[in-house]
Amino acid sequence: MECFEHSGSNSVGVCKACGKAVCRTCVVDAGVAIACSDRCAKEAADVHEMNQRGKKLYGIGTDRKNLPSGVVMWLLFGALFSGYGIYASLRSREPEWFLLLFSAVSFFIAWLAYHRAKDVGIQC
Ligand SMILES: [Zn+2]
Ligand SMILES: [Zn+2]
Repeated sequence: MECFEHSGSNSVGVCKACGKAVCRTCVVDAGVAIACSDRCAKEAADVHEMNQRGKKLYGIGTDRKNLPSGVVMWLLFGALFSGYGIYASLRSREPEWFLLLFSAVSFFIAWLAYHRAKDVGIQC
């Protein structure tokens, strides 16, 4: 392939942003890709940055599966209230229904949130 700007020069690659062929003289190193101009280099870097953030958001390429923070929060609520509910129930020798019910609801919401996050695939 010939350079888009310099006919006769062999291209060394294709601009990541606009797709034009570039030769050794006009190629710009965008760090993550090659570009034909500073403007395209910035564009390519921006697209790369966007991809990186998207990957992070959807948990692509990460080994550990993070629990979404909403799920963690409701799990903590559930654990806290079930712990306190059981403790209070043992102390007063009768079940503290409100606390136990609240912990059950918290675990249920955590379960719902977990499955919703799994369906959507978003980790936040
Ligand atoms: Zn370009
Ligand atoms: Zn060129």
